[in-house]
Amino acid sequence: MNDRSTSDNTLEQPPASYAGRTRFTQLEYEAVLANASIGIAFTRDRKFFLCNPKFAEMFGWLPDELIGQPGETVYTSRESYEALARIAVPVLSAGKQLDLDWEVKRKDGSTFLARMIAKAISSTDPRQGTVWIVEDITDRKRADEEIRRLAAQSDLILDNVTAGILFARNRVIQRCNRRIEEMVGAAPGELNGRSSAVLFAHRMDWESAVRQAYEGTPAGQMHDAVWRFKRKAGGTFLCRTRGRRIDAGGEDQEWIWSYDDVTLEQEAGERLRRALAEQELILDNATIGIAFMRDREFQRCNRRMEEIFGYAPGELIGKSTERIHVSRAAYDEVGRVGYAAMARGEAYTEERQLRRKDGSLFWCKVVGKPADAADPAEGAIWIYDDVSAEHEARESLERAVAERTAELKAANARLGAEIGDRRQAEERAQHLADHDALTGLPNRRLLEDRLTQALALSTRNRKQTAVMFVDLDRFKAINDSLGHAVGDQVLKEVAQRLVKQLRIGDTVCRVGGDEFVVVLPEAKRSTDAAQVAGKIIDTLSQPVRVADRELTVTPSIGIAVFPDDGRDAEALIRNADAAMYHAKESGRANYQFFTEQMNQAASRRLALENDLRRAVQKGELALHYQPMAELKGGTVVAHEALVRWQHPKKGLVPPADFIQLAEDTALILGIGGWVLREACRWATFIGVEHGVQVAVNLSARQFNDPKLIDLVRRVLAESGLPSTLLVLEITESTAMQQTDVAVSTLKKLKDLGVSLALDDFGTGYSSLAYLRRFPVDRLKIDRSFIADVPGDRNAESLVKGIVGLAHALDLTVVAEGVETQAQMDFLAALGCDLAQGYLIGRPVDADSAAGRYV
Ligand code: C2E
Ligand code: CA
Ligand code: CA
Repeated sequence: MNDRSTSDNTLEQPPASYAGRTRFTQLEYEAVLANASIGIAFTRDRKFFLCNPKFAEMFGWLPDELIGQPGETVYTSRESYEALARIAVPVLSAGKQLDLDWEVKRKDGSTFLARMIAKAISSTDPRQGTVWIVEDITDRKRADEEIRRLAAQSDLILDNVTAGILFARNRVIQRCNRRIEEMVGAAPGELNGRSSAVLFAHRMDWESAVRQAYEGTPAGQMHDAVWRFKRKAGGTFLCRTRGRRIDAGGEDQEWIWSYDDVTLEQEAGERLRRALAEQELILDNATIGIAFMRDREFQRCNRRMEEIFGYAPGELIGKSTERIHVSRAAYDEVGRVGYAAMARGEAYTEERQLRRKDGSLFWCKVVGKPADAADPAEGAIWIYDDVSAEHEARESLERAVAERTAELKAANARLGAEIGDRRQAEERAQHLADHDALTGLPNRRLLEDRLTQALALSTRNRKQTAVMFVDLDRFKAINDSLGHAVGDQVLKEVAQRLVKQLRIGDTVCRVGGDEFVVVLPEAKRSTDAAQVAGKIIDTLSQPVRVADRELTVTPSIGIAVFPDDGRDAEALIRNADAAMYHAKESGRANYQFFTEQMNQAASRRLALENDLRRAVQKGELALHYQPMAELKGGTVVAHEALVRWQHPKKGLVPPADFIQLAEDTALILGIGGWVLREACRWATFIGVEHGVQVAVNLSARQFNDPKLIDLVRRVLAESGLPSTLLVLEITESTAMQQTDVAVSTLKKLKDLGVSLALDDFGTGYSSLAYLRRFPVDRLKIDRSFIADVPGDRNAESLVKGIVGLAHALDLTVVAEGVETQAQMDFLAALGCDLAQGYLIGRPVDADSAAGRYV
């Protein structure tokens, strides 16, 4: 609805051709009105007072029906009518012409778009009324839109086809799609108006292209050629250009072109040609004869073929192959046997005598293969290799062998004994190099050989191979506490049990102290490997009897499966190892399949390690304190310092998650030193007059650190804490690692005046003999035993035994992990001295723990 124009043409002025006449007659006006093919209406005082039949028809009224009706009748709404009036009134009252598109309404309520031209009947007195000329332009509008849409669509198509499309007039680019611009690296629209010569790499090419297309292409035909084009940024490409002339044949030639970058195709074609030429070259220089036959006739053969048989170049082509055979019978036989094999799509191989052109015979190795196994009738490739020399050599050898047989037999008998001895010695040496002396199992070297073989086989058969890494849980404790002889016995037994679990073809190796690797070739991931792992856990978990002891060693197993978890022996073993580590972390005595997450877990560990390194300096570590109280009377006699890590992102990290890591990386030395200093400082802060001790845990690494004694002495001096108020806790297994060294370290600490406690007691296989030698003051019964009392018979008698033993040795007994009154009562009845646990008090921060002393 746009107000198109206002002009000063008045309707009253007749067209120029009527200039000679003054006025239309009334009759003439009526005739014009009645026959006009556009609607004409007159309004005055906002009412119709006259309209022609076309106008009434356009709006669906009878010719006279509209007369007297308000103008508003033909508008879609009152608002629409008022809106039009707001535009029209100023124009009309100024004596100007109104020209606009407006939506109007028919009698039946339907609407259409009308072009309306209106003008006041008298330019001086608008009240005289208005004449309206109305045209239904719905169709025109629709057509306009259709054209616009088509144009937009064709732009879209042009810009999305993969071919470049270009429209040229007289060698000047009029328009092209984006693809062409992209091909040559031009900006959008940049090519329009330029000569098509800008596309060509060489001007001469362009000239001949123009000649061929503009002058040499008959009307209606397509010009199709490949030219070298250039890119704006440098470089060229091969472009296939296809063009068709589209003008009517006048002076100006108009062409539509499609362009394709065919560099790759052309290069591929070039490569194929080269490959064929190379093949030809190979054929011609091959040292074996090669021939292509169809229907037992030579179709083609290489030079060597002709040489072998003594023919001139090309002489064999088209001839029957019968001529190279020693006889008709031989020819028939090859036809029967050889061609039958080839008819089945198989190759036919044989060593037979053949005939040269000169009639001489020679031995030839013959291989026949159908050219196309799916269609043996397509012909066959035959390969001929002159093996007469080898044949002769072999024959003479056989003769010689026959002659010497008797002689050799005698010599053999003589040498036999000697060789046998030597071979046995060699085999023994080899066996020693490849096997573990203790268990007799293959060692890591042989494992890698076998595994590599298994993988090759797996690849060929598209099967999987499972690699299991088996590590014994807590074996070190056995070895350390019971001695290597016992440890060795256990390992031998484990090896035997492992071997019994396996099938023929499986391999079990010992790759380290208590580490074994099992290879299951052709295993299926979910079923076989898991089943075997389960069985291994079951059998190994049965107690081992060694030197009158029953020992239980459970295995942790990691499984990696070829090819998903690693493509070579090394990667598979490494990933199985990672999975084993994971099995240990998830509570030992179980198996885990390798997952990519395990590598991620390893890198998480690394990240944690980095964080931990900075934790001490950044003050992220803190100590919590847990009370230890007398069972009789409940007096708190000591607090155990327990380290906490306030990680900036992860929040509070419990020691179980980082102490082992710190231990593995020696970070524990720094952390442990800080803990010791901090705990002593805290203990002096709560006041030494209370006589309350502070207990500090020492890890194995700290305990074995030669600087430990100095450190403790210095920290005591610095803090001013009386040495009697410091308790150092070391676990039973730490003390059992190198008992002699442990005894001497404990003695030195004792000499400083500190108290010593054996932590986690009951889990470390210590024997009474050692216990007597350790100068400790306390035993802390491990939480796991306390958890089971009262109620569990075994735990009950064990706890009872420990208390009795400790008292016999004059040691104080501490029960850890006391959570219930029932446990408390049970322990009190046994005469246990001290208790620690949630029932007495949870570990709390330093201030809260100190609170009870102020
Ligand atoms: P632990 O020396 O045996 O310490 C006792 C652990 O038992 C503490 O766990 C304590 O919170 C928990 N506990 C105490 N009472 C109860 C109870 O009634 N029920 C249960 N379920 N648990 C109870 P936490 O603090 O997580 O420490 C775990 C281990 O981390 C400690 O075992 C100790 O071996 C090590 N650790 C803690 N702090 C240090 C440290 O400063 N240095 C070293 N080397 N090791 C530390
Ligand atoms: Ca402890
Ligand atoms: Ca403990």
